[in-house]
Amino acid sequence: MNRTREIVKSVCIAICLILIIFQVCYIVKLSDYRHILLAENETASEQTVPDAQTADEPEQGDTENQAPAAEPTELVKEKIIVLDPGHGKSSSLMSEEERGLSGWAQNDDGDWGEWRHWKSGEMWIDCCGSGCNGLAPENGSCWYPIENGDRDGEGEINLRNAQAARNYLQEMGYTVRMTRETNDENPSITERIRSCYPQKDVTAAPDALVFVCVHSNAGGGSGSAYLSLGSGYDQGGISPTYVEDGNSLGAYINNRIVTETSLSAYSDGCYPGQPYLILFHKSPIPVGYMEIGFFDNSSDLAILESESDAIGRAIAEGIDEYVTANGL
Ligand SMILES: [Zn+2]
Ligand SMILES: [Zn+2]
Repeated sequence: MNRTREIVKSVCIAICLILIIFQVCYIVKLSDYRHILLAENETASEQTVPDAQTADEPEQGDTENQAPAAEPTELVKEKIIVLDPGHGKSSSLMSEEERGLSGWAQNDDGDWGEWRHWKSGEMWIDCCGSGCNGLAPENGSCWYPIENGDRDGEGEINLRNAQAARNYLQEMGYTVRMTRETNDENPSITERIRSCYPQKDVTAAPDALVFVCVHSNAGGGSGSAYLSLGSGYDQGGISPTYVEDGNSLGAYINNRIVTETSLSAYSDGCYPGQPYLILFHKSPIPVGYMEIGFFDNSSDLAILESESDAIGRAIAEGIDEYVTANGL
């Protein structure tokens, strides 16, 4: 009997010991769990704090503390276009002083005008009648009289179209130089070409991409065309592709005009009648020479008066197409 009691007593002690061990284990485990819980909470709060700070920053609106916008690493190249509204103030209204200031010269006879060419292979040395290529229209010569450039009514139309083109080019990001801003001035062609250079400094390299001459035609006809260059231009420093470049520029612009305005193409859009223009012989950069509509034709004149903005946009888009196609 004692033996049985001893066994029961031992079993009870063993069970108690086991229970105590379980309890201790439980407490230890619970304590670990609390540590884990605490650790998790701390991590969670650490994570939320920076987020909250980040979220607060824009609300504080403290622009002074914001990092400055990153500077572009590459400078965007300035793309300069010269726009030349043809003609202007009548020469009969210009005093001698005004003529001189506008770039007109006097020949040995005291007549006012300008020389058609530079000396062969040179720039900014007038031919003065010799040492040049001598190319001139049938009844013309090296000398171009000032009054030959007078046109009634054309100057205003040209200025309107050129101003519209300028606005569109500027929207596209181009820098535009106008050879004249009003109808109360009439610079010589030689003077207008100075706009191809930085601050008109002709001792520097020309920095404009192209020179676009905006005219309107007269003398019987209808529609728009560019005047194509001829050959034999020998001014110093021009590109070997000077002729092709000018003709391609004219074609790009005229195609746009014919597509986007009510004007049709005159002479298939290319008029080869005036290869001896002073501008072709004196410009250092490609020239697009536009004859937009016939201002002495009433239906063309109506279009010129009502669609000046569309004409300007077409000029700008044609220039942009040329610049893009040539990777300028
Ligand atoms: Zn000459
Ligand atoms: Zn003209």
